[in-house]
Amino acid sequence: MTIPEFSLKWGKEKRLTQGSLWAFRNEIDFKQKDAGPGALVRLKTQKGRPVGVGFLNTESNLCFRLLARHGEFPLEASAEQILETRLAQALDVRGPREAGGARRLVFSEGDWLPGLIVDDFNGVLVLQLNTAGMEGHRKFLLEKLKGMAQAKAMVERSDASFRAKEGLSPAFGLLWTQALDEDFLRAVPFQEDGLKLVADTLEGHKTGFFLDQRPARSLARRHAQGRRCLDVFCYSGGFSVAMALGGAKSVLGLDQSAPALEQAQSLLRLNKTEQPCTFEKADAFIRLRELEAAGEHFDLIVLDPPALAKDGEAVGGALRGYKELNLRALRLLNKGGLLLSCSCTQAVSEAQFEATVQAAAFDAPATLRELERLGAGPDHPRLPGMPETRYLKAFLYRRD
Ligand code: SAH
Repeated sequence: MTIPEFSLKWGKEKRLTQGSLWAFRNEIDFKQKDAGPGALVRLKTQKGRPVGVGFLNTESNLCFRLLARHGEFPLEASAEQILETRLAQALDVRGPREAGGARRLVFSEGDWLPGLIVDDFNGVLVLQLNTAGMEGHRKFLLEKLKGMAQAKAMVERSDASFRAKEGLSPAFGLLWTQALDEDFLRAVPFQEDGLKLVADTLEGHKTGFFLDQRPARSLARRHAQGRRCLDVFCYSGGFSVAMALGGAKSVLGLDQSAPALEQAQSLLRLNKTEQPCTFEKADAFIRLRELEAAGEHFDLIVLDPPALAKDGEAVGGALRGYKELNLRALRLLNKGGLLLSCSCTQAVSEAQFEATVQAAAFDAPATLRELERLGAGPDHPRLPGMPETRYLKAFLYRRD
């Protein structure tokens, strides 16, 4: 089978040669031909230098995603051969799953599998097939993953907005299970460093639980001893319970979602902690002001808002949101206290986020020193030269 070949326009190779896997529609020369959505194509520069092979989808503005650089695979390698190698590499990077544990098994571009995400919650695989290229190889990918990861069940939770951009309809639900029922899939138990956690793989946010915050949860737990802790945007209570187990004097978790708070309560019971923990249903933007007006203070505050911007256009609003939240949190933070401030959107860079926290500190006013700079763990590998793969920022500041 011959693989169609396309050229980049003049001068449009810089992003790809500097480490990104992406080319946009206006950067590719479509003079001669098109290919079906999700077709495997070869890309070269206008001067004829080969870049590599990847999936093309002209439906999407982000229309080319590289799967392999030129020279890594034989010229005639098929998409399936490349995908199978990439899956094996993803498993190899992670090694065997710890007993009863969970990890991200495939992290899209970070594993050179753009558009594919797989989380493994103690054998329950939760998948996202977010691009036409991955959709075109659905059956192959599911079969390979089932065998390679010794899956007990597979649930699809593809991102509807990503799929819409690719011209694909939404896709979610139970794909396959050996013998697990829906109640189990709504509360899949797993452990993380002795913390008992639960993923709602059918209806929870994203894939059911935020595995990417593992390093930050561990950090919050290590610093919680004897501190009054506040967990803003607590969702199902991962940080709250980690801080309780770390010996927090007290924990207050805030979230606007009642079902999330119910999950947080049951997570607390599951972990049998003695520390006083309270969860409140509230809009964080309002509740932080109320706590300030009531003269409340905390010694450790976790601020982990949802992605306030999904793409570049919404960045201005997102930065205003981050500034407001960090300002309100700092006003509640005792001197000597710690702020673990997070941003989970690739649309805001580390530098922008840092500057925003500093602007909040200037207004508070508060003097901050950075103690740690974390992101997602090693099960979310990052590509050098592709900042989008470092989407998660979790900075630990001490207020002097
Ligand atoms: N810290 C969590 C993840 C947070 S996800 C963890 O580690 O698991 C973002 C959460 O913010 C969701 O649970 C959502 O319900 C909540 N949320 C979104 N907007 C909110 C608002 N204005 N006030 C309070 N909670 C909000």
